[in-house]
Amino acid sequence: MKKILFLILSAIFVFSGFLNIPNNVVLAQDCQRDVLILMYHSVLKSKKGDYIISPDDLKSDLLWLKNHGYESIFVSEIIDYCEGKGDLPEKSVAITFDDGHYNNFYYAKPIFEVMNFKATINIVGAYTEYSTNSGDIDNPNYSHLTWNEIKELQQNEHFEIGNHTYNMHSLKPRYGIAKTQGENSELYRKHLCEDVGRLEKCFQDKCGFTTNIFAYPFGKYSNESYEILSSLGFKAFLTCNEGINHLIKGENAKLKELKRYNRSGLFTTEAFFKKIKIS
Ligand SMILES: [Zn+2]
Repeated sequence: MKKILFLILSAIFVFSGFLNIPNNVVLAQDCQRDVLILMYHSVLKSKKGDYIISPDDLKSDLLWLKNHGYESIFVSEIIDYCEGKGDLPEKSVAITFDDGHYNNFYYAKPIFEVMNFKATINIVGAYTEYSTNSGDIDNPNYSHLTWNEIKELQQNEHFEIGNHTYNMHSLKPRYGIAKTQGENSELYRKHLCEDVGRLEKCFQDKCGFTTNIFAYPFGKYSNESYEILSSLGFKAFLTCNEGINHLIKGENAKLKELKRYNRSGLFTTEAFFKKIKIS
């Protein structure tokens, strides 16, 4: 009888060793993060749309995220994490704004400062050049950020800047950065490098920084565009594919196609997060 009891106790002891496996699981969980990335565009009081949100709704989004335990991070922190550096909060959200509207500066900046949130703003160089040169600036309804405002944002701890092409933000004749019909690989590489490089040069000359974050206009991309942009030094690529980013520390493959949810301004905060099934 004692022998049987001894065998049972031994078995429990041996298996309890196996039950210690959770150590590995804990380690694994610590090395992966599900990261939410949101995509905004314009912020306006006067109208709402799929790409225009009101300042009140923007503020309410940030409040919702904060109340649900989210901490805001930069896209550059995602790069670091995927390169094995630093850490990310368990509930991380990266907020992005595309196209470089002046209203991001006018309406969003004060909200992000007060709420202590971070955002990555992706600039279209030609829009900024036009606003800067026309002198018709600082109108929330239609102006884009000037080079000086971009410089100021990059120096602000709540913002960082990404590249959204200099002038490849059209549907025709080229659909975003897609190859045009009949364009061979060599020409395509030349056109893409010249355009994107031109914005990097503007950032460098007029604002004193460069970026390695790229947002695909209209979410158009290919393996070829990825290869070309990577060769220019870009590391994080923001798509318009919707979903959560399952990141593993030290694995940079996910940086190639970061998913984002477009935040249409036509929903309330609650309805939007319910729609994308985030809690
Ligand atoms: Zn855009």
